[in-house]
Amino acid sequence: MTEKKVLLTGDRPTGKLHIGHYVGSLKNRVDMQNSGQYDPYIMVADKQAFTDNARNPEKIQNSLLEVVLDYLAVGIDPAKTTIFVQSAVPELSELTEYFLNLVSVARVQRNPTVKAEIQQKGFGESIPTGFFIYPVSQAADIALFKGQVVPVGDDQKPMLEQTRELVRTFNRYYNTDILVEPEGIFPPEGQGRIPGLDGNAKMSKSLGNAIYLSDDEDTLWAKVKSMYTDPTHIRLADPGHVEGNMVFTYLDIFDEDKAYVADLKAQYEAGGLGDMKIKKYLFEVLNQELAPIRERRAQFAADKSAVLDIVKTGSEKARIVGQQTMAEVRHAMGVDYWG
Ligand code: ATP
Ligand code: MG
Repeated sequence: MTEKKVLLTGDRPTGKLHIGHYVGSLKNRVDMQNSGQYDPYIMVADKQAFTDNARNPEKIQNSLLEVVLDYLAVGIDPAKTTIFVQSAVPELSELTEYFLNLVSVARVQRNPTVKAEIQQKGFGESIPTGFFIYPVSQAADIALFKGQVVPVGDDQKPMLEQTRELVRTFNRYYNTDILVEPEGIFPPEGQGRIPGLDGNAKMSKSLGNAIYLSDDEDTLWAKVKSMYTDPTHIRLADPGHVEGNMVFTYLDIFDEDKAYVADLKAQYEAGGLGDMKIKKYLFEVLNQELAPIRERRAQFAADKSAVLDIVKTGSEKARIVGQQTMAEVRHAMGVDYWG
């Protein structure tokens, strides 16, 4: 039997998870978990959440439980996957510190995802240093667990590249092969970055433009109903546009029945198909996917202390793995002065 590959991925506890996470990452994780070919670790990146939420500890604390409930609701199984919290493994910080010496400020500055996030968050000249360097800490997250496969959304491509570079540099500088170069696993074309309800290029917990996995039917309908369609499609008989029309963008992503969507698009472009009709249809498509998730989530939410116990157990296991790698790292660097 071949060894199981270590899978590592995670999310920031900055809010509940949304349908962008679902198609961009969670679905992949569940499939990979169930394939039996991996040893999966999922990290709730609370320290990373602090890099842009330092003044909002309650948000991070509350979101921890919400994110784990979302995991359990979509089918992450704690018997197969180790769910842990970043701050419970202090060795991550230790490795981050060493990694910071292996990369230049200019290299960190070149990360296009971080550049876009700095813009979005309106930091101006006051970028928190921790935020600026979070891709390095993320590299340490992956490297400490010797993650081999990392299923993430498209926005994480620069982070994976950076991790591979750091691992190579570490192994070269310290003449070792203990750290492992990870491979990013990205969603199929068109599903790696789900746009927001507001038409923003990325649905994001922090931007308030998301459909959450936990949204109830009324909330889901309210969100779909207010979605941006085509401002030139005024009367029913007017020909409509499907490009840039969020309802069709989402149907393309979420509806398996591609032939039916193509048909709807043709009707919409010809005129005679109303916005309300396509919105009702999108609601049905999304609700069909979300209803069972919502139900499972409510079941787990009934026993919050059991959920926290899952994370505690996972964190204890993760800590042991982290301590093992860190001992190897110190040895490779010659900082194990007392053996
Ligand atoms: P925040 O706004 O706090 O950064 P986020 O919504 O970007 O939150 P993260 O926790 O940063 O979520 O990302 C977790 C995972 O979900 C990553 O693998 C990321 O690539 C993926 N992801 C996030 N947003 C999307 C999206 N809109 N489409 C597809 N994948 C996404
Ligand atoms: Mg993000």
